[in-house]
Amino acid sequence: MPPLPNPDISTHPVILWFRQDLRLTDNPALLEALAQGRPVLPIFIHDDEAPQIRQIGGASRWWLGQSLRALDDALAKFKARLHIYRGPAQDVLATLCDTTGARQLFWNRRHDAGGKAQDTAIKANFQAAGVDVRSFNASLLYEPWEVRSLAGEPYKVFTPFWRSARALREPAPARPAPDAIPYLPPPHLPFAATLESLNLHPTQPDWSGGLAVRFQPGEAGAKARLAQFLEKHLQNYATGRDFPGLDATSRLSPHLHFGEISPQLVWQAAQDAVASGRSGATPKDLEKFLAEMGWREFSYHLQHYYPDLATRNFQARFDGFRFVENAAGLRAWQRGLTGYPIVDAGMRELWQTGYMHNRVRMIAASFLIKHLMVDWRMGEAWFWDTLCDADSASNAASWQWVAGSGADAAPYFRIFNPILQGEKFDADGAYIARYVPELAGLPARFLHQPWLAPASILASAGVRLGENYPRPIVDHDHARQRALAAFQALNAASAE
Ligand SMILES: Cc1cc2nc3c(=O)[nH]c(=O)nc-3n(C[C@H](O)[C@H](O)[C@H](O)COP(=O)(O)OP(=O)(O)OC[C@H]3O[C@@H](n4cnc5c(N)ncnc54)[C@H](O)[C@@H]3O)c2cc1C
Repeated sequence: MPPLPNPDISTHPVILWFRQDLRLTDNPALLEALAQGRPVLPIFIHDDEAPQIRQIGGASRWWLGQSLRALDDALAKFKARLHIYRGPAQDVLATLCDTTGARQLFWNRRHDAGGKAQDTAIKANFQAAGVDVRSFNASLLYEPWEVRSLAGEPYKVFTPFWRSARALREPAPARPAPDAIPYLPPPHLPFAATLESLNLHPTQPDWSGGLAVRFQPGEAGAKARLAQFLEKHLQNYATGRDFPGLDATSRLSPHLHFGEISPQLVWQAAQDAVASGRSGATPKDLEKFLAEMGWREFSYHLQHYYPDLATRNFQARFDGFRFVENAAGLRAWQRGLTGYPIVDAGMRELWQTGYMHNRVRMIAASFLIKHLMVDWRMGEAWFWDTLCDADSASNAASWQWVAGSGADAAPYFRIFNPILQGEKFDADGAYIARYVPELAGLPARFLHQPWLAPASILASAGVRLGENYPRPIVDHDHARQRALAAFQALNAASAE
């Protein structure tokens, strides 16, 4: 890019490029842009053809559309707007600099490989052209490269990673939203688009109803959810978080993913709620919650050092694992028709609400990989498309964790038993009843293995196995033996 002429910059705006930081509170790029004492031009670029960027899935597209609308509304209260452009980010930004005379471009960092590559190239091009480009951390408590072992190595195990991160420093305090945002509307640009024209909202059919019932995307929704969690659910989080029938976790993951709330703000609010006694939570509840935020940090740490975490086994020896082609099994799993109620409930919760409880994510993922022997990447891709919180780091790291191929992963012989897991974590069947209502009439002792129920009980509960609810698509004991044998063969091969 050739050097840009040096205009009189007193009224030229600072371009503030929003990406996964869709908030006004504790937004470092926004605060730094305001500190320049010039108008700020808030923009979003829909660059849906960038070859290096993994395009987001359907549920995330819905969320993004809602969140952009919420951000625009929030900016409107400051008499500013969010300007949306569609096209290659480099071209859009160059045109913006040309037409507005802007010579400063600020953003908060992305951490996925594609986003990082794009940012690096754009930064180099614009700096070479004389533009002041600055990037900030808005999404993590610790930058992924900050936490290193004494030997200077990245961590591969969570506990020492988290201990070392905590010892670095307390996360920075969250900074408030600004009081004012000076703004001048830009001239119309060829790349200008409306939110509607991005087609982020599903049509034909519009399947987003269940997502909208559960979530309120946007900064206000994130703050409301945090407040509700701290008031009602942080208490008992340490134990309650494992029970999918309870509303015991924060459900902040999509808000954090889209940057509608900063992890610093969540961290600080949780600490304050416990210190003041307001939440009724114990230090154990708090530590458990903070450690889960720590798993998010660890996932980003891993992604930073292993950028192809979503496609390549972290432990190369797993490359030799023989997954099977099981299109029918994959389809049954995706639709919540495996015949294992806890798995089906999870997959249907995902389909209906764009979310799945963490315990059930582990069970469902284990079922796909170990019972059906389907490549974990197929599951990762399905979650990528259907989760509102689909996140390049957390999704990939978690799938590899379940597969056993990841860092600090579950050992290969840990094969979740969907019957025992259901009995332990959904003993009263509240979760099953919500998402697999055709089984709701069964007594609790048969809920997790309806195929053992006597015909009379099935009949009085209205369950017709093979008709209105499937028989198990695979026998648990057989599947377990098959998976163990496959993993043992892998071990033997890698020991040779
Ligand atoms: C197979 C599989 C896939 C997953 N894919 C994703 C994903 O795409 N995006 C995602 O955000 N999480 C993912 N997770 C992690 C976890 O299930 C969700 O973060 C959690 O269920 C979100 O619910 P919550 O906000 O109520 O969590 P809470 O229990 O309230 O935890 C607070 C926050 O900590 C973070 N967190 C909690 N558990 C984990 C974890 N195990 N790994 C990383 N971060 C965590 C989340 O940001 C979460 O919002 C996945 C887990 C599994 C097993």
